[in-house]
Amino acid sequence: MNISEIYTLFQNFPIVVTDSRKVVKDSIFVALKGDNFNGNKFALSTLENGCSYAIVDEKEYAIDDRFIWVEDALDCLQQLAREHRRVLGIPILAITGTNGKTTTKELVNEVLKKKFKTSATQGNFNNHIGVPLTLLEMNSDTEFGIVEMGANHPGEIKMLCEIAEPNYGLITNVGKAHLEGFGSFEGVKNTKKELYDYLSKHDGEVFVNCENDHLLGMLNKQKIVFYGNSDKAYSKARFLQAEPKLIIELRSPIGKLYIKTQLIGAYNFENVLAAVTLGRYFGIDEIDIKDALETYTPSNNRSQLKKTDNNVLFLDAYNANPTSMKAAIENFAAMKMKNKFLILGDMLELGNESEREHLDLLELLNQNELSDTILVGDIFSTLSSKYKFKTFKTVGDLIIYLDTLNLKDKYILIKGSRGIKLEKAIEKL
Ligand code: ATP
Ligand code: MG
Repeated sequence: MNISEIYTLFQNFPIVVTDSRKVVKDSIFVALKGDNFNGNKFALSTLENGCSYAIVDEKEYAIDDRFIWVEDALDCLQQLAREHRRVLGIPILAITGTNGKTTTKELVNEVLKKKFKTSATQGNFNNHIGVPLTLLEMNSDTEFGIVEMGANHPGEIKMLCEIAEPNYGLITNVGKAHLEGFGSFEGVKNTKKELYDYLSKHDGEVFVNCENDHLLGMLNKQKIVFYGNSDKAYSKARFLQAEPKLIIELRSPIGKLYIKTQLIGAYNFENVLAAVTLGRYFGIDEIDIKDALETYTPSNNRSQLKKTDNNVLFLDAYNANPTSMKAAIENFAAMKMKNKFLILGDMLELGNESEREHLDLLELLNQNELSDTILVGDIFSTLSSKYKFKTFKTVGDLIIYLDTLNLKDKYILIKGSRGIKLEKAIEKL
């Protein structure tokens, strides 16, 4: 079968499943492969459990006409998604950047939902599989698509753009993350820039934080809508406070508006402003924008404020890289309350830069006199000997220690790479 025949089939069975444990009735299973699994092996069982067709790329599994054999199932999934995107013909906004993609995507979605039937990336499905699946979930009712694009090596954003064919783009920021895959910060920038380049070639439009010099330096001939504190900005706002939750003052045609968000962290200011800008640009009422942004509550241990019986947690255990870690620590250090306590985990995937970035962070903690800090992970354990911080190799060791500590009435920042799993310690706090 060629792609247009498979697409015709998809129009009759418009749900695609790639996880054999999450079979849906009357759907199409696509057998993907990973380092530790081969979806082809599960294709038959998905048909027995309710899928109508299975796309496989190993011939021996295609035993009857419910199986569709293709050269490469992943490639087929991506082509199917592109075909679908073209048929839908709706406006699509792509969001990439080092930090704040998911938060910005969710804020933008909340705002645009006030006027359009939107369809946005679920959770963090932002890679070469997640982007096609996001597109395939859109349907003829969808009026606006919002697609998060993640990357950890050069060329990835270009490839995702060629699948999603966005009309609009937003790079939240560029910073130090996944340096292992990108090679350097320049590598990070060049990869994110692929979104601007795609939109410039395809007559698209970009939303740009005009206070971010890195982003300004990456622009060329695109149509641009600026946001940030500058006369050329389409949306202007003032950061008021993040103690603990972020409040901003928005200058609007109907006067000053105060947006009281449910997000912790001054760094979320630019994410909120991006969502305001998109909302205005697409004609959402100011009051609806305010309402959407005030209602949105983060989940998944990301920028969350959590009160336990004993303490108040600034929960950011979802991920960490040098840029977001620095932003979180500086934000926390600037808060006026006393009884601050920090639990920080290693920042992973930094390649050759790892040691230097961790040392810089230790210095930052030292300078801010954040001595009530516990560090968790192999990297911090190896590097922190000259500092006074308490250090543990694993979250398991941390938990044993926390049992002896009985922390009470503390404000606790919790942040580290997902691999460190700091969230396991929450119940002890
Ligand atoms: P991922 O690469 O895992 O998809 P992401 O880019 O989607 O991450 P979010 O999930 O929105 O990012 O946020 C993760 C963390 O990044 C937040 O909890 C916060 O610590 C930090 N962060 C969010 N926005 C910003 C920002 N604008 N500047 C710096 N750090 C930020
Ligand atoms: Mg994300």
